Amino acid sequence: MREDICSIPISEVFEPKDGCPICRMTRILEGHLVDYITGAAMMEPDVRIETNEEGFCPNHYRQMLTRKNRLSVALTLETHLKTMQEAVEFHGKAPTKVQLAWLNKAASSCFVCRKMLWAKERMMKTIFILWQKEPDFRKLYSEQPGFCLEHTEELLRLGQKELHRKLYPQFAAATEEVFRRTLDVVQADVSGYCKMYDYRNAGGDWKNTKNAIERALNLLIGDNGFPLDDSMKG
Ligand SMILES: [Zn+2]
Ligand SMILES: [Zn+2]
Repeated sequence: MREDICSIPISEVFEPKDGCPICRMTRILEGHLVDYITGAAMMEPDVRIETNEEGFCPNHYRQMLTRKNRLSVALTLETHLKTMQEAVEFHGKAPTKVQLAWLNKAASSCFVCRKMLWAKERMMKTIFILWQKEPDFRKLYSEQPGFCLEHTEELLRLGQKELHRKLYPQFAAATEEVFRRTLDVVQADVSGYCKMYDYRNAGGDWKNTKNAIERALNLLIGDNGFPLDDSMKG
């Protein structure tokens, strides 16, 4: 499988400064992998050998069907199902450990999820190397509008492992600052939203609070969040 599918330029992740960059990175990697598996991967027998064993998760099967290349999905399924037919031939005996392990893998693993995890780990390492070495990247990191909860946790946890002990407090402070940039705003706006239900504020100005719930949830659940619509009202 081609390496470049699993790597995206860091500038593509951090330059847009629109929402959580790690969510963006995950979304781009996922898009590349789903495009690949429903496109160029058809020409790569080694990929088919892997997908014959493990298949995909429900979320990625759904995404594959949105790519409008139904033949590629059918070809992938054809050999995956064929391999499955052979794997579940018990010949009247109890399934062997190998057969049960095969079924467990087929039922619980996903080619796209596994490759995403691998690619993301590598990209996270690059982020830490850049942060450690490049003052320009450190600046760009601190200029991000926000990190979601999941990725704030991940950056702080991995940073402790990847960064020099003396640099980690500075990295943690920079990460906290970016996280709080969104956290403090949505906390205040959710609070303002709640106050609008007070009878004393009846007919008052909702200001920026109409979509406070959605913005708070986007911070808490990241990229699977909610579209923002200014017309939303309590
Ligand atoms: Zn995120
Ligand atoms: Zn998956």
